[in-house]
Amino acid sequence: MFKLAERIKQLPPYLFKEIDQKKKEIAAKGVDIIDLGIGDPDLPTPPKIVEAMVQAVRDPANHHYPSYSGMDDFKTAIAKWYEDRFSVKLDPETEVIALIGAKEGIAHIALAFINPGDLALIPAPAYPVYNSGTLFAGGRPYLLPLLKENNYLPDLASIPEEATRTAKMIWLNYPNNPTAAVADRDFFEAVVKFAHKYQIIVCHDLTYSEIAFDEYKPMSLLEINGARDIGIEFHSLSKSFNMTGWRIGFAVGSREAIKGLGSIKSNIDSGLFQAIQVAGIEALKANKENILEIKKTYARRRDIMVKGLRDSGFKVNPPRATFYLWVPVPNSYTSVNLATRLLQEAGVVVTPGNGFGYPGEGYIRLALTKDESRLLEATERIKSIGL
Ligand SMILES: *Cc1c(COP(=O)(O)O)cnc(C)c1O
Repeated sequence: MFKLAERIKQLPPYLFKEIDQKKKEIAAKGVDIIDLGIGDPDLPTPPKIVEAMVQAVRDPANHHYPSYSGMDDFKTAIAKWYEDRFSVKLDPETEVIALIGAKEGIAHIALAFINPGDLALIPAPAYPVYNSGTLFAGGRPYLLPLLKENNYLPDLASIPEEATRTAKMIWLNYPNNPTAAVADRDFFEAVVKFAHKYQIIVCHDLTYSEIAFDEYKPMSLLEINGARDIGIEFHSLSKSFNMTGWRIGFAVGSREAIKGLGSIKSNIDSGLFQAIQVAGIEALKANKENILEIKKTYARRRDIMVKGLRDSGFKVNPPRATFYLWVPVPNSYTSVNLATRLLQEAGVVVTPGNGFGYPGEGYIRLALTKDESRLLEATERIKSIGL
């Protein structure tokens, strides 16, 4: 009876329908499924963070509408964390905003800067929300393929002049979901130069800043000279502190970008429940011990899975960051074929890489979000079907 708006019709088709359906059928048969499909940590939120929330919930002072941009104490804790972690000094008043999860800010920022018809430069494969946020604002995504031969970094020099001149935004995400690639200082310097030259806002999704291994420490775009004028960085507490269900994140950087995002948000949501922000302050304070434990856990899982997959003939390198493995499929398979076979014959759920955009064809993504014994079991089952 009702016609959906064009903006919804523009969204790319949902590619996992078939696999979701098969997953249901197989689960209904009583098969013990090992789901490595979703990037949602299996571990609980650290108890100290939970306790901070419980106490804050009891305090009636927290029962009111919060400030839409975030509590002063939360914004100050974010600025302090940024200084400790990246040596970047931020003004909590003008360069920090609280988000209802990183996804919320990522989806909304296009509404502040994209006019109908404007271009946004968006990597592919990528987290799908850069694309949908752009489409909802009436913008046009210009895709930047992330290829293995470029270490999954966009090739800025290959973007046609026409696109660079009209683009309003560029999206980046390092450490990267789904490829697990990382970016170094040289790359970020090139990005800042590019953004200044063409007056483009750099939106950097730094959701995985804390999930890194072997002494590797991901950097902030804002460490680069000149980045604060053109860059905004999105953070999430979801992955760093096992808090996906809580919905808390933040954005920092360019005053103009933060102000623009704030104008949109103040007309759409009314901020973040204060008790959750109190828990967020505790998370950022207790950062070091919690993070160390979480990182060690993922590193052990990564090593088990990489070894197991190599034993089955897959070519996979241990990633330096994120809890994903981005695995090339053997020659005769497509992403979906292989994912289907792993599900039907091994009861292992993986994500077909093309679901993140066409250059992801030829890969599957595995999330290390199950414990070591389950991962070991998954590798044994995969080995036993013989690919
Ligand atoms: C998980 C994820 C997000 C969303 O984080 P929330 O804070 O839970 O909304 C954003 N970007 C990437 C790349 C992610 O993997």
